[in-house]
Amino acid sequence: MINSIRKRDKEHILNTYARLEIEVARAEGCYVWDTSGNRYLDLLGGIAVNVLGHSNPKIISEIERQLHKYMHVSNFFYQEPQIKLAEKLIELTGLSKVFFSNSGTESTDGALKIARKWGAENHKHRVISFKGGFHGRSYGALSLMEKPLYKDNMGPFLAGIDTIAYNDTSILTQAINDNTAAVFLEVIQGEGGLNMVSNEFVDTLNTLQKKYNFLICIDEVQSGVWRTGKFCSYQHYNLKPDIIWLAKGLGGGLPLGALITSERLDNIFLSGQHGTTFGGNPVSCAAGLAVIEEFDNAAISTLQLNAEHLKNGLSKLKSKYPNYINEIKGKGYMLGLDLTFESKKLRDLLLDQRIITNSTSGNILRLVPPLILTKAELDYFLEELDKAFMRYIEIMP
Ligand SMILES: *Cc1c(COP(=O)(O)O)cnc(C)c1O
Repeated sequence: MINSIRKRDKEHILNTYARLEIEVARAEGCYVWDTSGNRYLDLLGGIAVNVLGHSNPKIISEIERQLHKYMHVSNFFYQEPQIKLAEKLIELTGLSKVFFSNSGTESTDGALKIARKWGAENHKHRVISFKGGFHGRSYGALSLMEKPLYKDNMGPFLAGIDTIAYNDTSILTQAINDNTAAVFLEVIQGEGGLNMVSNEFVDTLNTLQKKYNFLICIDEVQSGVWRTGKFCSYQHYNLKPDIIWLAKGLGGGLPLGALITSERLDNIFLSGQHGTTFGGNPVSCAAGLAVIEEFDNAAISTLQLNAEHLKNGLSKLKSKYPNYINEIKGKGYMLGLDLTFESKKLRDLLLDQRIITNSTSGNILRLVPPLILTKAELDYFLEELDKAFMRYIEIMP
């Protein structure tokens, strides 16, 4: 059966994704079931999307409620779900205005347009971004990135962008000047392998901003919505961003992105200068509001304690397998095991044990699970991970 589905997928879906060999039947909480009835513990969470797990009843009921009122009317109208969600986002970030889109990529492009426009008005014409960054798949987003697989033979890309070494204060200092309009960064690089900026790097960035006056633009698409223990990952740092953007976890599984800007950008666009047909879809916004209300009610401290428990367990495994694990990277529920071998191999062993994880940047096993994992589920995962390492060592060439 898997074979026939696989064959039909290959026949009709344009090849872009390396699929896992699972045909999904349903998903609930932290579990996914395949069509043969096998249950998998899910530590991928729809790639950092299902922050409250699958089929969260509160999200479903809020979606249903909104579906029966209206599911799309266009952005020509005032829509309460958008306004309510925007109010929450402003409260949680202390920023000033929200623009809703459908995805991370679109939000990146919106941020880039704002940076360019603000730059043009202030006679600043270059944008800085960082190696190892991931911002999406549009031409704007790709222009901020360097990964050859994503760009080869697809140029030309946007001009006026310098992509420099991540977390290197001296290179940053050399790169920035009066002509710098904006700096685009993830404070934790998700796709790039769970690298984090240092406090020293942030201090340098702040000092340079005071001297040269540019926009600090932070991509929170993967790291936002409490994944790292705070609503946004920049909130762990002494940072006052001008633009941040969210997507993945925001819609609780529905497509939704939000670009959030600081006060000095309140009037950056005239009516009609930016927009989208579906952005801020009322059903997606109702789901987003349910996500935020669930977190308001949930004990975020429990979530943080469990994430610590996971990290401690992983550190123990690192001591047990020093020849196979270099480092445990990341923060909260955005973690990476930096392995001494190709992480796909461990991912496949775990999948065989009915545990879903993710492989990124070659040797990194990435964990971006639902944030509602229980301690018992985490302990089960840690035991199975231990087993997977033992199996890897047995079968290793
Ligand atoms: C996933 C991701 C994006 C792209 O989001 P899409 O919704 O896939 O367009 C952008 N930035 C970061 C940091 C991401 O992890």
